[in-house]
Amino acid sequence: MDFAFDTVTEDLRERLLRFMDECVYPAESAFEEQAASSGWGPPPLMADLKDEARKRGLWNLFLPGEHGAGLTNLQYAPLAEIMGRSPTIAPTATNCAAPDTGNMEVLSMFGSPWQREEWLTPLLDGEIRSAFAMTEPDVASSDATNIATAIVRDGDEYVINGRKWFISGAMNPNCKILIVMGKTNPDAPKHRQQSMVLVPRDTPGLDIKRGMHVFGYTDADHGGHAEIEFRDVRVPVDNLIGEEGGGFAIAQARLGPGRIHHCMRLIGMAERAVELMCRRALARTTFGKPVAQQGVVQDWIAESRIKIEQLRLLVLKTAWLMDTVGNQGAHTEIQAIKISTPITVEWILDKAVQVHGAGGVSQDFPLAGLWAGARALRLADGPDEVHKRSLAYRELKGYM
Ligand SMILES: Cc1cc2nc3c(=O)[nH]c(=O)nc-3n(C[C@H](O)[C@H](O)[C@H](O)COP(=O)(O)OP(=O)(O)OC[C@H]3O[C@@H](n4cnc5c(N)ncnc54)[C@H](O)[C@@H]3O)c2cc1C
Repeated sequence: MDFAFDTVTEDLRERLLRFMDECVYPAESAFEEQAASSGWGPPPLMADLKDEARKRGLWNLFLPGEHGAGLTNLQYAPLAEIMGRSPTIAPTATNCAAPDTGNMEVLSMFGSPWQREEWLTPLLDGEIRSAFAMTEPDVASSDATNIATAIVRDGDEYVINGRKWFISGAMNPNCKILIVMGKTNPDAPKHRQQSMVLVPRDTPGLDIKRGMHVFGYTDADHGGHAEIEFRDVRVPVDNLIGEEGGGFAIAQARLGPGRIHHCMRLIGMAERAVELMCRRALARTTFGKPVAQQGVVQDWIAESRIKIEQLRLLVLKTAWLMDTVGNQGAHTEIQAIKISTPITVEWILDKAVQVHGAGGVSQDFPLAGLWAGARALRLADGPDEVHKRSLAYRELKGYM
């Protein structure tokens, strides 16, 4: 078993690390200041960072195949980890941010030539942003078969009625297109009732109601999380992605890579937390010795290092499986990392916050925001309990 990265990955890692040191970390405080006054749009300095990343060949690294950089999951994993060290800036600057990544994957896998031309091309160029609208306030959406939004064919058009919330990125005025999941045929078998349609954000009847908060954060620099009402929203039938009844299968295909990307970035967040924890523990003295010499703090640091190494190995194994046996063959591992990574990184961030004292919960360190992000990822893309249920079921099947 060879644990070394290949030469392509090593080269990109070095370039990405340099980009982080020279451009991303130095921009963090100005980014925060601009974000406070730039409404739901991206802080102005993001445009320069995108230009710079593109010039350095650090663009669309997430996307395998002809439309993207063509990396494997195993090659992309250590790069996403590096981006995760500054998760509000680096993924967007390199055009590797959710939910665009998943949406670009859907369009590249299932989009018609017209849909790719119209929406995939500007997304790949980083000219526009996008959103993915599945979750609804009125039904338990962790069971996607509950999704109730109606998509009804009327001649050459679909008419959409329903309400969605927590639609990431949709508050951003630069978000031009939404992939909307709803029911085209409530009488079909359970997993064939759903379809996905492309809905331009400026379509009449699409009403952005408000931005949902996450532990009090608006996440405006990510484009927020919108509550949206669809009232008699009409789109041409050409906006259907794939076939009628294929929405559930597309949602499953979309979530595999999305989940592993979240986990890779979370490991980067954990590395950042450990670095901050060590620096702070060495810099502060209580009761006659540095905080770093307190046994309990050393225990947190050691446990954090062990947990990160364990997570990284499982995430890399999952990436390798996705490359070699496909997303379906890696299903158990994808669920295992989606369960174990956010909760473990949440634990590490909690300890880093504690070592920072009051500063840890404040705006002077990135820890509070990182913690909120990790905690929210125990819900986004499916709650822990739902993944455990399905993982346990597959395990039990071997003995039934
Ligand atoms: C920050 C953030 C961003 C998001 N972005 C998007 C987005 O861009 N697009 C989108 O469509 N959605 C998005 N979501 C929504 C997310 O995908 C849903 O919140 C999630 O799927 C859960 O659905 P729900 O909130 O309706 O919870 P419910 O389905 O109501 O479930 C509530 C709870 O019930 C428990 N539960 C459910 N089923 C089981 C079970 N079988 N066994 C045990 N316990 C169970 C779990 O604890 C679960 O958390 C986002 C959420 C957050 C927090």
